Amino acid sequence: MLSTPQNSPPESGIAANRARVLARVAAAAEAGGRDVRSITVLAVSKGQTAARLLEAMDAGFTQFGENYLAEALPKIEALRQRAPVWHFIGRVQANKTRPIAEHFDWVHGVDRLRVAERLAEQRPHYAPPLNVCLQVNIAGEASKGGVAPADVPQLLAAVAQLPRLALRGLMCMLPYEADSATQHALFARMRQLLEQANATGLGLDTLSMGMSGDLAAAVAEGATLLRIGTALFGARQSA
Ligand SMILES: *Cc1c(COP(=O)(O)O)cnc(C)c1O
Repeated sequence: MLSTPQNSPPESGIAANRARVLARVAAAAEAGGRDVRSITVLAVSKGQTAARLLEAMDAGFTQFGENYLAEALPKIEALRQRAPVWHFIGRVQANKTRPIAEHFDWVHGVDRLRVAERLAEQRPHYAPPLNVCLQVNIAGEASKGGVAPADVPQLLAAVAQLPRLALRGLMCMLPYEADSATQHALFARMRQLLEQANATGLGLDTLSMGMSGDLAAAVAEGATLLRIGTALFGARQSA
């Protein structure tokens, strides 16, 4: 059977997906009375090849999130000329902090002082301070990393003292099955934690929250950094 323009699939590809995601972000920002310019979308590129990342850069992305060091380092090397901003969004193992401190611009998964201390020690002096978000286990899930909400103030205060780090804010991941009301409640709790910290003078400017499935709720509750994978690149092959 002939394929004709009339029955070709809807526009696909990273540029079209990006336009759809940005439209969702803009609609949520508008509904919440937020300035869309205060929200950054980073492309979560785990499982994607360097060629796909180049395609994403050509579509307008300048910031990427990677979860796994062994996978990320060759891509960072391959894209060195284009110099995107690299975010480490995976779980940080204490014995793997050095390459993170050397090769990334941001780390979102800091959830204990020992890891922050190592990153501070290992951040090269020729590089600008490493941007850090503390991961919060906002729903208290046993399967997830992150500091308990009650322990956030103490850990923030300690990490803020460390050299070579720029403490920027808080990060979370929600339970996959959370319904819309739960998403809103948990993201709002994150915003309260950030506001409490700022009441003590910390000057944090980042709420790293919102993924493909919950970005509207995240924007409504104050997210400044959305981490979007599937909605841009399509479903991942099994990890
Ligand atoms: C994979 C991942 C994302 C992106 O999730 P999608 O549902 O594919 O948008 C965001 N944040 C973290 C920490 C991730 O591991």
